[in-house]
Order: sequence, then C-alpha cells, then structure tokens
Amino acid sequence: MATTISPAQLDARVAEFLDKPRKMLIDGKWVDAISGKTFPTYNPATGEVLAQVAEGDAADIDAAVKAARRAFDSGPWSRLTASDRGKLVWKLADLLERHIEEFATLETLDNGKPLTVARAADVPLAVDMFRYMAGWATKLEGTTIPISVPYTPGANYHAYTLREPVGVVGQIIPWNFPLLMAAWKLAPALACGCTVVLKPAEQTPLTALLLGELIQEAGFPDGVVNIVPGYGETAGAALAAHDLVDKIAFTGSTEVGKLIVHAATGNLKKVSLELGGKSPNVVFQDSDVEAAIGGAASAIFFNHGQCCCAGSRLYVERPVFDRVVEGVAAKAKKIKVGSGMEPGTHMGPLVSEEQLQRVCNYLEIGMKEGATAMAGGKKLGEKGYFVEPTVLVNTKEDMRVVQEEIFGPVVAAIPFDDPEELVPRANNSMYGLAAGIWTKDISKAHRLASALRAGTVWINCYNIFDAALPFGGYKQSGWGREMGKDVLNLYTQTKAVCTRL
Ligand code: NAP
Ligand code: MG
Repeated sequence: MATTISPAQLDARVAEFLDKPRKMLIDGKWVDAISGKTFPTYNPATGEVLAQVAEGDAADIDAAVKAARRAFDSGPWSRLTASDRGKLVWKLADLLERHIEEFATLETLDNGKPLTVARAADVPLAVDMFRYMAGWATKLEGTTIPISVPYTPGANYHAYTLREPVGVVGQIIPWNFPLLMAAWKLAPALACGCTVVLKPAEQTPLTALLLGELIQEAGFPDGVVNIVPGYGETAGAALAAHDLVDKIAFTGSTEVGKLIVHAATGNLKKVSLELGGKSPNVVFQDSDVEAAIGGAASAIFFNHGQCCCAGSRLYVERPVFDRVVEGVAAKAKKIKVGSGMEPGTHMGPLVSEEQLQRVCNYLEIGMKEGATAMAGGKKLGEKGYFVEPTVLVNTKEDMRVVQEEIFGPVVAAIPFDDPEELVPRANNSMYGLAAGIWTKDISKAHRLASALRAGTVWINCYNIFDAALPFGGYKQSGWGREMGKDVLNLYTQTKAVCTRL
C-alpha cells in the first residue's frame, strides 16, 4: 500500500498543486469563491507566498451548508448502509496512505514542520484515525430498556433507543496539525453518518484541499463533505452562525471558542470545543531523571510548542531541579532549527509572522517579569519565522508566561518542595487539557493523576496519542471529547422509541 511515487514525480505533482489557485469543494464540485477572491498561503520557512486559495465567505458557506443539508436530508448518504459508509471511510484511509509523500511534503511546505515528522506522525495518524473510525460505522447501537411507567398500571411497553447522526456538521480547524485535525473531525462525523462543511485554517488550507480530491476519488456522494477555505471572521463566523447547521465542532483558541458558543445561540446548535492549554509536567526526584529530561524537552518542543497540550509549565522537585533544567536546556541548545524540508532539521519555523510576533512578545514579557532564559530566548535569523527553543527559569505562578498560552517552544520551569503543595499549584490555571507525571512510585503517580484537573494525564510519557484514546479539556480547555468511543457522542444523538404492546 506504500507510495511508489518517484522524487521527480512528487516534485511535479506538488508543483502542479501549488501552481494554480486552489478551488473549494462544494456539492462535489471544485469551484471558485462566489466573490472571485483568493488569499495567499505562505511558506513559513521563507515568508514567501506558496499558493493562492479561493477565499470563501458567507455566500460560499451558505452554498456549502445547503449542499450538506440536501445530502443529509434526502441524498444518497442517509440511505447508505452502515457497512457501505464504513467502507468508504476505510477506502479514504487507503488512498491517503498511498499518497503519504505528497501529503507530508505539502504539510511541511504550508505549516513548516519537519518533513520527517509529517511523514512519521501527521499523515500516518490521520490514516489510522480514518481506519479506527471506519470500524465504528457498523457498531452504533441503541439499547432495549425495560420500563415500568407507574401511572399506567397493567400496561406493557417495548422501549428502545436509536443512535442517529446529529445531521449537518460545521467543523473549524487550526493550523498546528492541519491534516490530522481534519481527520480528527471528518472521520468520526462521517462514520456516524453526518454530512460536513469543513473550514481549514487560513494559514494551512492545502492538505485539507488535497484530501478533498481523495474524498471524491473514494466515491463519497456529492455534498457529504464540503471544504471551504477562508478567514475565521468571515467564513468561520458564518458557519458557526448558520441556522441550517446542526452542530459545530471547533479546535483553536479559547478566545475564539467563546465566540463560537455565542454564534451558535441562534439555532442552539450543538457545540464541541477543543481549546488551549497550559499543561503542567511534573518531575519527581524519584523518577528516571534522564527519561524525564527527554520527556520534558519533547513535551514542549514537539511541533515547535504549537500543541494545545504542550507541557509548558515544568514543575520539578527541588533536589533534582538544577539537573533537570540543565538537561532540558542542553537538549534545547542541540535542537537543529531550520527549514522543515532540509534533512536533519528537528524544529521548523513557527507557522506565521503573527505567531512569531506573539511568541517573541511573550519572551519579552517574561524577561520584564524577571524570568531568565537558560536556553534560547530570541528570534532566530532574518528570513522565515524561526525562534529559539527556550527554557525559562526564575518564574513564578502569577507571571503571564506561566499563566497564558504562548503556543511556541517556550517552557517555564518552576521548583516545588512538597507534593501536597504541588496539586493546587499545578491546577492553578484556567485551562485543564493535559498533564505529565514522572515518578517510579506508582501510588503517587495515580494519586496525582486523580487530583489533576486535566482531560489527559501521561505518566512517564508525554504526547502519546491514539485514535482509541479520548482527548479533550477540563475547565476552559473545551467541551466534549474527541477520538475513541467518546467522540461518537459528539456526532450522534439518542432517540427513545416507546411502543405500547
Ligand atoms: P484561532 O483564531 O482560534 O483559529 C482556529 C480556527 O478558528 C481557524 O480556522 C480560524 O480561522 C477560525 N476562526 C477564527 N476566528 C473565528 C471566528 N470569529 N469565528 C469562527 N471561526 C474563527 O487560532 P489562531 O489565531 O490561529 O491562533 C491563536 C492562538 O490560538 C494560538 O496562539 C494558540 O494559543 C491558540 N491555538 C490553539 C490551538 C489548539 O489546538 N487548541 C490551535 C491553534 C491555535 P483563521 O485561520 O482564518 O483564523
Ligand atoms: Mg502556510
């Protein structure tokens, strides 16, 4: 099943894809924006325009939602058997696997991440997500329920539930894992029998559009998946507010998540949110310290810190604080930062000029607040959006760099003395997405896992994801869980049917 494309064919295919303005997918057809407008997407390693993309706005969203509505209400999609639906989702996984090189290359060019990472993580995880969810299509079952109904003595009933798709789903995704986030959203929605309008992030629309080509090749009926690139304030806001959309699923900032909730009030559409984080990663002195050092470094530096679950608050028990922080700083200094397309690059550029400014601004704020950089601390080079992997010490809980999500390769290290005092400090955040624990004491690990208010807790590991493992946030990190069996609740609803016998 692996790709057989030669390097020359790959270059030609990618060049061809980037050459023409990319259209949007509505009702099974590739179309220009109704306004005729396009917008640029940039290569963050160079700051140069990579491609032009059709700029969807409210009018295009309206057309896409109506197509999704038709496909759901009267189209072939709702008449398809669960088995055929699952087969289509599985077929999409097979096609994606066959095109892994193309997707990895395009992801690297558009997002900046190292090609090795896109090839080993982003694309294979997306393939796996489609396969995992394909299996659920045939396992969405209701139950039969014995009911008593005390106010109708003597009557008998047959009562059961049906699990039905929620309907037309609007999905708005971010730029940090562009293809993978599309897979996290599309795979369960399609397995559950929903139809979709997907809006990729303006910074990284390309792999979602390439996926659209495979969706057509796989044979999904027209209108089942519509992909409308454009800006959040126009296309995204129109999708969140549209009255014919039954549910909106959003991943991105907590700030925009709140706007989505407001926009959804018009027709009270269902909302699920996967938002920001400021995750504590806790290292005890009784851990395998070398493993913890490696884990703490990758917890923050993986994907350039552009992970909602990044381990950005590093709590270290005081006797090993210096050793751990020096170890993480040494690893930070060894990270080879460069273009994601260059072999040997460990860390690429941040995704955009805006994110570079944001991260550099936080570095300045941190220094003004009294933090010191043990490694990194500044922008790197003149071209592209590069920043140094940074380890901050002399940080305190009330500092902005410890409270706010930076979304870059910047970790704040803080010592602690007493494990009891640690819990309220680790939980002292408006976020609750993830946490890490490093210790050999299993009782302590599980006690702390239970006390931490976070949707995911990793013990002696970090950033471990699987299609079967639910992911989502406590507190202001979100509503609902993606992946695993839990995500089926986001895309189905229960109908109770009651018959008097
Ligand atoms: P964002 O604005 O929340 O973007 C996420 C998605 O929402 C994008 O598709 C965006 O479109 C869209 N959007 C923006 N405003 C909207 C609106 N009013 N209505 C509907 N959709 C809207 O995130 P960002 O500006 O790219 O990044 C800012 C910060 O968000 C980051 O620094 C980070 O802290 C956080 N973030 C978190 C995650 C995560 O995985 N939890 C991912 C990305 C960013 P556009 O692409 O056109 O803006
Ligand atoms: Mg780009």
